[in-house]
Amino acid sequence: MTDAIPAPAASRIRVRGGDQYFPVRRIYCVGRNFADHAREMGAAAPASKAERGQPVFFLKPADAIVTDGVVPYPHGTHDFHHEVELVVALGRDAPAGVLHPDAAVALVYAYGVGLDLTRRDLQAAAKAKGLPWDTGKAFDHSAPVSELVPAAAVGDVDARMLTLQVNGQTRQHGALSDLIWNVGDILHELSKLYALRAGDLVFMGTPAGVGPLQVGDQFIASLDGVVELRGEIVIPTGTGVG
Ligand code: MN
Repeated sequence: MTDAIPAPAASRIRVRGGDQYFPVRRIYCVGRNFADHAREMGAAAPASKAERGQPVFFLKPADAIVTDGVVPYPHGTHDFHHEVELVVALGRDAPAGVLHPDAAVALVYAYGVGLDLTRRDLQAAAKAKGLPWDTGKAFDHSAPVSELVPAAAVGDVDARMLTLQVNGQTRQHGALSDLIWNVGDILHELSKLYALRAGDLVFMGTPAGVGPLQVGDQFIASLDGVVELRGEIVIPTGTGVG
């Protein structure tokens, strides 16, 4: 038996420190993981860990990954937003069952910084009707990500800052110590719902300051002191929409 059509190419992300790539299986994303961002979106923010309830999850397709920073302005929106986020890359399959948060962290292979790009107008319309967020979140080129840095070289990720500059102006700046659910907490919660596997990425949620991007905007996303992603919003070319 042979493939009936050419097999689609897998998304791959360069790993720092060698000539290896990380093949992407799934992209999980966390909504409302910083209280200041939850509030700016008009949602209630939990007053304490005990009151945080359940995290909001959604997914993007693996082929939404952009590794060269060149992001076409998407069709179908007039309010295209940036969300700078910590990206967690899993290097091992999870064992069967629910992961303990401490055990979950051992699955992490590397970290990076990325943008959870959002068609905010489409997301808002879906939210207002109680409909899924897919058209607002899970579109082509919606997941630009930096090279990945092995976890051992990052150390204590909770001590790092996330920053996004657009055209030289700081738009977002937040401390990962302010995450409502940290990396272990999120992997624990995901393991209740999905079989986590090597190749999975998790976009951990954004701090306050989300806002619109336009064609020609140049951005620098950084996980301070670890890695950065530089890119630009460009006029879409070629066929197809997304
Ligand atoms: Mn996000």
